[in-house]
Amino acid sequence: MAGIYIHIPFCKKACFYCDFHFSVSFKSKADIIESILLETKRRREFFEKEEIIETIYFGGGTPSVLTMSEIDEILGTVYEVFNVLPDAEVTFECNPDDLSLEYLKMLKLVGINRLSIGIQSFNENHLVWMNRSHTASQSLQCVHDAASVGFNNITIDLIYGVPQLDNQEWRDTVKQALALPINHLSAYSLTMEENTPYKKLVQQKKYKQPDEDQSSIHYEILIQEMNSAKWEHYEVSNFCKQGNSSKHNTGYWQQKKYLGIGPSAHSFDLENRSWNVSNNAQYLERIASNKKTFETELLTLQDRLNETLLTGLRAKWGINLAELKEDYAYDILTRYKEEIGYWQSTNWAKLEGDVLRLTDQGLLFADYIASELFADEDYSSQTSS
Ligand code: SF4
Repeated sequence: MAGIYIHIPFCKKACFYCDFHFSVSFKSKADIIESILLETKRRREFFEKEEIIETIYFGGGTPSVLTMSEIDEILGTVYEVFNVLPDAEVTFECNPDDLSLEYLKMLKLVGINRLSIGIQSFNENHLVWMNRSHTASQSLQCVHDAASVGFNNITIDLIYGVPQLDNQEWRDTVKQALALPINHLSAYSLTMEENTPYKKLVQQKKYKQPDEDQSSIHYEILIQEMNSAKWEHYEVSNFCKQGNSSKHNTGYWQQKKYLGIGPSAHSFDLENRSWNVSNNAQYLERIASNKKTFETELLTLQDRLNETLLTGLRAKWGINLAELKEDYAYDILTRYKEEIGYWQSTNWAKLEGDVLRLTDQGLLFADYIASELFADEDYSSQTSS
């Protein structure tokens, strides 16, 4: 299983909380698309000839600022260069204000079969507060429109922990989302990232910062509602109707190979991680002068082990301790017997056979628990000697 990610680095507006790579100037859009096509061809060797691509993911930025011919050209090049499965999952991130009926119909025609819609909130004031480009009614309408033109694989994103979002309104938001024709939902806690307008606004005392306790309550409400709707909670922030998990993102979490194309896109070839330059002008210059667009880091055994711990504990499949011992010579049960016993007693973790997995309650602390189990420098010196 392998995937391809294509980063479209343009947005109509800068959402205040966002620290992804994008530009609100569209001046270089045509050149960036041209360069993405060139990069796709140049990175042909990333996959073995017989390697099958099962997922393609347009992310950003906002892919729905692309015209149909631009999408068609990118997809056509990907299919021409790589060995793509005929029924590959092809996900397209989009914003509600771009999804006219006409646009949706064309997306289906060019081969998009999964939509990821950035809804974030159904509250008009909250959308303005976030500086989103769409209205609450567009958020609702576009999902119904997408279903009406035949999309049956739709995921939406929501944000909780917004300071003025009270518990009841958040519960209603989740219920409202569940009433839409979707089969997947991702919900993220609002965070205040470095170098974002949100951080500046908080420093200027114009905006409130997120409250961790309130976010935790929102997370619990989310889990309650999703459990009562019998949705599968398969990763910390991701829920789906039975069997509708995101194949592409699951590939990331299960350490499958993927190639990232476009400014700031990341790749993983099972041994190395690489990341393209996060600057549109520099990306264009490097492609034009046939220079490398990315930097690479070779992962050590310790890096790979810690990634397995982190992604496994954040997901419903957990970590197989016997496999970990076999693959990494890392015996968690002996090293962390006391900690695991404590997490079992607080109902944060369960040990079922060889598999350690977190409960709904424990998922709230997944990153902390994983970091407690991480291999340290001692492990590196033992395994390298
Ligand atoms: S549309 Fe998405 S990528 Fe663009 S600024 Fe908003 S959150 Fe960030």
